Amino acid sequence: MNKNIINQLEAIIGRDGVLHTPEDLAVYSYDGTFEEHCPDVVALPRTTEQVSRIVKLAAQECIPVVTRGMGSGLTAASVPFSGGITLSMTRMNHILEIDEVNATVHVEAGAVTADLQTAVEKCGLFYPPDPSSIRHSTIGGNIACNAGGPRCLKYGVTGDYVLGLTIVLADGSILRTGGKVIKDVVGYDLNALMTGSEGTLGIITEALLRLLAKPTAVRTALVEFPALADASRTVNAILSAGIVPATLELMDETAIACIEEAMHLGLPLDVEATLLIETDGNDEAAVLREIEAVAAICRQCGARQVNVAGNEAERSQLWKARRSVAPALARKTPNKLGEDITVPRSEIPEAIRRLKVISAKYGLPIVIFGHAGDGNLHPNILFDKRDKKQWAKVEQMVAEEFALALELGGTLSGEHGVGKLKRPYMEKALGPVSIRIQKDIKQALDPLNILNPGKVLPD
Ligand SMILES: Cc1cc2nc3c(=O)[nH]c(=O)nc-3n(C[C@H](O)[C@H](O)[C@H](O)COP(=O)(O)OP(=O)(O)OC[C@H]3O[C@@H](n4cnc5c(N)ncnc54)[C@H](O)[C@@H]3O)c2cc1C
Repeated sequence: MNKNIINQLEAIIGRDGVLHTPEDLAVYSYDGTFEEHCPDVVALPRTTEQVSRIVKLAAQECIPVVTRGMGSGLTAASVPFSGGITLSMTRMNHILEIDEVNATVHVEAGAVTADLQTAVEKCGLFYPPDPSSIRHSTIGGNIACNAGGPRCLKYGVTGDYVLGLTIVLADGSILRTGGKVIKDVVGYDLNALMTGSEGTLGIITEALLRLLAKPTAVRTALVEFPALADASRTVNAILSAGIVPATLELMDETAIACIEEAMHLGLPLDVEATLLIETDGNDEAAVLREIEAVAAICRQCGARQVNVAGNEAERSQLWKARRSVAPALARKTPNKLGEDITVPRSEIPEAIRRLKVISAKYGLPIVIFGHAGDGNLHPNILFDKRDKKQWAKVEQMVAEEFALALELGGTLSGEHGVGKLKRPYMEKALGPVSIRIQKDIKQALDPLNILNPGKVLPD
């Protein structure tokens, strides 16, 4: 990077906020995928004003700006393929206000989501969105990807909690949206526009988030199904009975085997699937009744055993299994490609059946787990990218996974977003009119195409 630009960045944020040695740049070159590319310089601002001045400089010099939270994304969205400035938000990590009366939290975008949850829970409040990456992702990254998680079946996704944002636009101007009001229909919904925009329309520096009262009662069960088809049928049976658990998570036999091999948690190895089901609320007796009703439905649908946690230690043991999926898979093969397809709930059994067919056709394992209650499945292909034949197969398998999701009335992503990896499939998923409108929005907000270029929209 031109020394003059580095000097100007140092003048804005100080020398300790600008990184440009090859070792430092390498640290910011990758995310949760296997893609990588170094930025030319990394800037670590502390204030919205500093972000604004950096973006004004970038606009003047036509330098790409890629915003980065914790780099946990699974679509190469924060990988700076065009170089330029990576704007790391991790120093903007303060919780500015918890308003207990209005049940809101005002937070800087670089705050780690788990830290935010812990802080509000100390006040008896609850921030429900819970991506499995909760300890290594930021609120800004969660908003930029509209992150979901196990609890989203009952409580909704990140975007459902965004009341207001502070955003630095591509010309460096500062936009403030929304506020503490619950109802607000004045003008276009810019919160919704920015949520899920993956750093391509603006840089989120602060967020005002809605909170709930923390549920006081919870019951968790791990249910064993000899037949995978019965597990997926159960999901619809529970929801059709009018019960909305906080969580309805599915793991297939390959996921169970990987976790057991890595963690030795005593998971059953002779079943085709498990469901992790959690009910919660503020009435202990009602929550208990609900898990009992759920257990009865599971048994009617073919469950072999329903293990309800008797205390918090047993509950966290059950969750440990679900949270260990990603690291357990990472031990199996040098690479894994985790997708995030979503289908209507009624199509889950058919989606799983077709994923198994794809796996058999190409001879590579597809491990299936995910938020079954949302119809959001994470088929993970296990492979070795160094083997060119395997990589060629993986590319075809991914295309077939997306095709099956679309054929079943679903879509490419329920929570990870598009980034670079899903761009080639966007037109097929959305159609030309939607793509044209989205390109018009991008052009209007970022005419120089400096904000996270090459992401989300196809060329
Ligand atoms: C093991 C594992 C489990 C995961 N589980 C889940 C899950 O359950 N649910 C889920 O939804 N995701 C999950 N993810 C994916 C990932 O954690 C989420 O997409 C998360 O929201 C990314 O946050 P981040 O701070 O790491 O953002 P990054 O990866 O740094 O960036 C992601 C995108 O957001 C943009 N961005 C980041 N911060 C800002 C900002 N302040 N302003 C504007 N744009 C910004 C970036 O430019 C990029 O486009 C998982 C990932 C891993 C590795």
